[in-house]
Amino acid sequence: MTFEERMVRSLHVGTMAASDLTGGHDHRTLFQASTIAALLEGRYEGDVTFAELALQGDTGLGTLDELDWEMVALDGEFFRADVDGNVNRIDPAEKTPFAVVVEFDPDRTVELPGPLDRDQALSLLDSEGEDPGPVVAIRIDGEFDRIEARSVPRQKKPYRPLAEVVEGQNVFTIGRCEGTLVGFRFPDWSEGIEVAGYHLHFVDRDRKRGGHVLDFTILEGEASLESSSELNVELPPGVELGSEGVAADVHAAIDKAERG
Ligand SMILES: [Zn+2]
Repeated sequence: MTFEERMVRSLHVGTMAASDLTGGHDHRTLFQASTIAALLEGRYEGDVTFAELALQGDTGLGTLDELDWEMVALDGEFFRADVDGNVNRIDPAEKTPFAVVVEFDPDRTVELPGPLDRDQALSLLDSEGEDPGPVVAIRIDGEFDRIEARSVPRQKKPYRPLAEVVEGQNVFTIGRCEGTLVGFRFPDWSEGIEVAGYHLHFVDRDRKRGGHVLDFTILEGEASLESSSELNVELPPGVELGSEGVAADVHAAIDKAERG
């Protein structure tokens, strides 16, 4: 079974080229530039600009051209967290080789009475009663005791596979602060197109610190969730969705690159 056939059943997926990004998109449709498998192979050159991305959604995560640090989108603003976790705004003319965004319109909220560590907080999201949907977009606003995050250094050609690049990742801790976690929960079978499970990025309230989140402790907060069953994937030339059943080495590489 191909990804396309599988997705038609539970997640409707459309594909498009960067030249098709004219701005119109349906409510509750997630947009994704390229695939995580392509990123793992070292395709770090973007073909979608942040101006184009902004037309597809106001909330999400990803990276920048040449794997230039971590991206988080919040309230229509796009931020870059550099290798030390320092945050600045992204120029709309810059490009991304991998990003997922949605025009965030949450359908439910979950209180997070802390202190809760990452696993405890995410299991509260898992257990909330309503139909979770194939993909859940997540925003968690709150006060955090600490955020353990990482960012990776900008890459130059010849590009190395992502699993090698993250060996040079910088892991850092953001101390007590208010801020926002932004991300998604994708189903297991979407691994390869996406990172299956939870994938969260962080930016603090002052928009000064952030990154790809490895762990956190939340003292008090609220999660806003939006389920979606529509995903449009922009495929750069030469990138395909592939087949279901991601090879063990790809699983291992995603584990290392995105969950490590
Ligand atoms: Zn990430």
